[in-house]
Amino acid sequence: MTRIRECDTIQLLFEQEGRSLLKLSVVVPCYNEGDNIVDFYRESEAALHDIIGDTEFIFVNDGSSDDTGRRLSELCAKEGTSITAVEFSRNFGKEAAILAGLERSRGEYTAIIDADLQQRPEYVRQMTEFLDQHPEYDCVAAYQAQRKEGRGQAFFKDRFYKIFNRTTEVELRASASDFRVMRRNMVQAVLSLKEKIRFSKGIFSWVGYNTYYMPYKVEERHAGSSKWNFFKLTRYALDGIMSFSDMPLKAALYLGVCLGLVSLTMLIAIIVQAALPGVFVSKLLIGLFFAFLLSGINLAALGIVGVYLARVYREVKGRPVYIIKSVQESSRNKKE
Ligand code: UDP
Ligand code: MG
Repeated sequence: MTRIRECDTIQLLFEQEGRSLLKLSVVVPCYNEGDNIVDFYRESEAALHDIIGDTEFIFVNDGSSDDTGRRLSELCAKEGTSITAVEFSRNFGKEAAILAGLERSRGEYTAIIDADLQQRPEYVRQMTEFLDQHPEYDCVAAYQAQRKEGRGQAFFKDRFYKIFNRTTEVELRASASDFRVMRRNMVQAVLSLKEKIRFSKGIFSWVGYNTYYMPYKVEERHAGSSKWNFFKLTRYALDGIMSFSDMPLKAALYLGVCLGLVSLTMLIAIIVQAALPGVFVSKLLIGLFFAFLLSGINLAALGIVGVYLARVYREVKGRPVYIIKSVQESSRNKKE
C-alpha cells in the first residue's frame, strides 16, 4: 500500500515536469560499444517484447572514440523506439555514466546493464517479473554463478571484498555487479547520495532496502574488448574502500597506540633492570624506549588529526542521515 503511494507521489512529480512514469527504464553505459549497440538493442527488444511499449532505454555514451554516437543517433531516429542517448563530452567512467542514466530514468523499475551482451537482457525480464511477484523486495541484483575471470584476478577480487567488508559499515556480495533492477524508491535513494566520487556497489548496499540476489551466467563479450585493466581495477578498489571506510585515516592512531604499548613494556624492563642489584640498565633498551615512545606520540597525534579529517570527510560527502523506506499513517491521521 505504502509503495503504491510512493509511486503515485513520483508520478505526480513527473507529471509536473511533463514526464510520465513508465514500467521500466534500462540504463546502458557505453564506451566504444559501436559494434554492440544495434545487436544489444535488438536482443533487448525481443527479450522485453511484452513490456516494450512501457519501456525506455537510456544509453549513455561515455566519450566513445568509435562510432557509438552515430549508431545511437541511428537507433534514436528509428520509428517506434523509446531511446534517450546521452553523450558525454569525454570519457568520465562507468560510474558517471550510470549516474547520468539513473538521473534520467523514470521507470517504476530501473535496470542497469552493460552494452556488450555479457549480461543477457532476458535476465532483466526475469528480474522485473520477480519484483512484480515479490513486493517485499526492492531490488534484484545478479551475481555470477560461476566466475569467469582468471585465478589471479579472482584472488585479488576476493581479497578486496574481504578487506572492504571488514573495514566498512556496508556489506558487499562478492561476484555481484551493477547488473540489477531496482524499484523507483531505491533509485531515488541512490540519487539522494550526492557524493562525486561514486562507488555504486557500495552505494547500493549503503541505501539499504531488500535485495534479492539472483545467479546469472556471464556470456563472452559480443564484440570489442573489456575496458578494465589491472591498474584501473586497483584504482576502482581503492576508491571503493576510501569512499566507505575511515580506516586508512585512523590507521596512524592505532599504530601509534601499539608503539606506545611497546615503549611501556620497555619502560617496565628498564625499571626492573634498575631495581635488580648488580644488573646494568641496557643503553640500547633506553635508546629503543625513547625511539618507540616518540614515534608513538608522533603517530598518535597524526592519527588524531586523521580522526577529525574522517569526520570532515563524512560531512563533506553530504550523505543523507537516513533513508525512509515508507511511512504508514493511521486512517484518522490521513483525514486530518
Ligand atoms: N563502460 C563505460 N565507461 C568506461 C568503461 C566501461 O561506460 O569508462 C561501460 C562499457 O561500455 C560496458 C560496461 O561499462 O557497457 C562494462 O564495461 P566492460 O565490458 O569493459 O567491463 P567488464 O565486463 O570487462 O567488467
Ligand atoms: Mg563486459
